[in-house]
Amino acid sequence: MRQTWGNLQTVQPIVVKMLMNSMKKQRVAHAYLFEGPKGTGKLEMSIHFAKSLFCTEGLQYEPCQQCSNCKRIESGNHPDIFLVTPDGLSIKKQQIQQLQEEFTKTGVESKKKLYIIEHADKMTVNAANSLLKFLEEPHAETVAILLTEQSHQLLNTIISRCQMLTFRPLPRAQLIEKLVEKENIPSLAAVAAQLTNDLGEAEALCHDDWFAQARDLVIKLYETLNTASNQTLLFIHEQWMKHFDDKEKLQIGLDILLLIYKDTLYVQLGEKEKVVFHDQVSLLQHLSLQQSGKRISNAMANILETKKRINANVNTQLLFEQLVLRLQEG
Ligand SMILES: [Zn+2]
Repeated sequence: MRQTWGNLQTVQPIVVKMLMNSMKKQRVAHAYLFEGPKGTGKLEMSIHFAKSLFCTEGLQYEPCQQCSNCKRIESGNHPDIFLVTPDGLSIKKQQIQQLQEEFTKTGVESKKKLYIIEHADKMTVNAANSLLKFLEEPHAETVAILLTEQSHQLLNTIISRCQMLTFRPLPRAQLIEKLVEKENIPSLAAVAAQLTNDLGEAEALCHDDWFAQARDLVIKLYETLNTASNQTLLFIHEQWMKHFDDKEKLQIGLDILLLIYKDTLYVQLGEKEKVVFHDQVSLLQHLSLQQSGKRISNAMANILETKKRINANVNTQLLFEQLVLRLQEG
């Protein structure tokens, strides 16, 4: 899908409005700080903004995506646009110095230059101080865009020289919509969107066979617990523990299990629109009749308690068996 300001606006309306205004009023700042959680499209926004500033054919600040500037920005080959990313764990002073050297030359093709520093909070103290000097003496037509998930780790003196724009996580309904637009299976998208609000991560889950099987196993466990509880331990030994064979995987299993209990509660409350396992509503409805609200909230509390204890516990299988016995007792 071709990226447009319109598309970006559905996800980050305030940021897009500010950037568009700065272009319309010809008051593009010398330095921006894009801050917000992972997966909120900060780099994507930077690239689109760069294209808008450099595009030679665009209309109404919408980059054409066809001209040589747009194409080279897309492929990361524009001589006047620089992207700095951490070298290993940090961004080093040398990297900022290299950047400064590039900026003492005039732009290869015009006077305009733009640089993006990804994970700007990972700058070493020396790097940050070098950058600070650089920001203090802005060159006429340069634009800096600093990206961070942790703005509180940046020097205040840097923050104060930037226009800060905050990126919000994608609302869940929109995340699901985007996943389905990209042809992911709706029933998987709904669960994935509960586990992460990062579109990329959610998409990876939707493409992961392990995740699809995990969802099926949770439904099966839930059904077995409520219809054939004497077979639950057998099911755990033969299927469950083989699939959730380390702590990290078991945590995901517990997260999904928690969702199905929450769904049962929603069904009881008549709030079907909130149900995540929307293809299982008839099963949920049927099983919700046998369970009191108190039993369901006890189950949820027990699952949360197990999640807490998992990392400290050596024998996860035993811990999980204890949980299952509690879930059976209600
Ligand atoms: Zn263009």
